[in-house]
Amino acid sequence: MAPRISIVVPCHNEEANLAALLERLDLVLSAVASNAFEVILIDDGSKDRTVSAAIDLTRRYTYLSLIELSRNFGKEAALLAGMDHATGDCVIIMDADLQHPPEAIPQMLSVWEEGADVVACRRLDRNTDGALRAFLSRSFYALLSRGSSVEIPRNVGDFRLMDRRVIMALRELRETQRFTKGIYAWAGFRTRIIDFQVAERHAGVSSFNLRKLWHFAWDGITSFSTVPLRFFSYLGVVAALMSFAYGIYIVGHAVLAGREVPGYPSIMVALTFLGGVQLMGIGILGEYIGRMFIETKKRPVYLVRERYPDQGAGR
Ligand code: UDP
Ligand code: MG
Repeated sequence: MAPRISIVVPCHNEEANLAALLERLDLVLSAVASNAFEVILIDDGSKDRTVSAAIDLTRRYTYLSLIELSRNFGKEAALLAGMDHATGDCVIIMDADLQHPPEAIPQMLSVWEEGADVVACRRLDRNTDGALRAFLSRSFYALLSRGSSVEIPRNVGDFRLMDRRVIMALRELRETQRFTKGIYAWAGFRTRIIDFQVAERHAGVSSFNLRKLWHFAWDGITSFSTVPLRFFSYLGVVAALMSFAYGIYIVGHAVLAGREVPGYPSIMVALTFLGGVQLMGIGILGEYIGRMFIETKKRPVYLVRERYPDQGAGR
């Protein structure tokens, strides 16, 4: 029996991209040997006409369905919603803005059929990103690879195919703060990486500005490594050693050179420096405690408002 293929696409304000996306997907899918496939769009709280555009398309493409979330939960949550609803033997996830070329799908499928559990697509270059974003992204991966216990491959994003067994495993990981790159790496499985050329956005603007990316990076570092905490232990030891040496120097100086009244600047320096270090340390502790607080509430990662068509999409 031919394998069933699910394609999951998170959409946030993508009204201008959906028609073009489906057109190209349809071409690719009709050439694929298997004719059992479904495409699931996840509307992640779009403010534009993404939902009605998607509903229109479900009339044209019988294998298309739409899951409308109750608000914007973020791309990572939308992806989980897609994985929860996908029924395929393998699931391909891709962006709605055609930055991930559907034409790569046949190659992904053939690598999967050769026995890979995960086929991850690595972008060849970051030409479509600005210089600043490319630089920050490089630094982020450098920091992350040093700081976490799982290897997180560079430039491998959310364009990937996953076997059903991987999807079942990922569904178990229901943390609210989802750093998917780390989650994929943590899950492991037999992974093959293939290269692809990332394209320009078809229409609309990216939902990820620098501020969002900063949050994303911070989430990644704090949910997959405890290095920031350890850093403060080391800093504490260094500061303590320095103060100790300085203390010996002051006492020695007082004994040898006599009375020591002026000392205001050095006291102020030590006071403010240590105060600053302590505040930073407390801040980092707070980050982790905040994360624990959010996770202990065990809220669902996303809420579904409606599914279109009602049930049983696909063919
Ligand atoms: N996206 C989403 N929820 C969000 C932000 C983005 O589902 O809160 C989707 C978006 O519609 C797109 C994909 O995630 O399909 C990647 O987003 P975008 O193209 O804005 O990011 P970039 O390619 O610039 O990293
Ligand atoms: Mg994009």
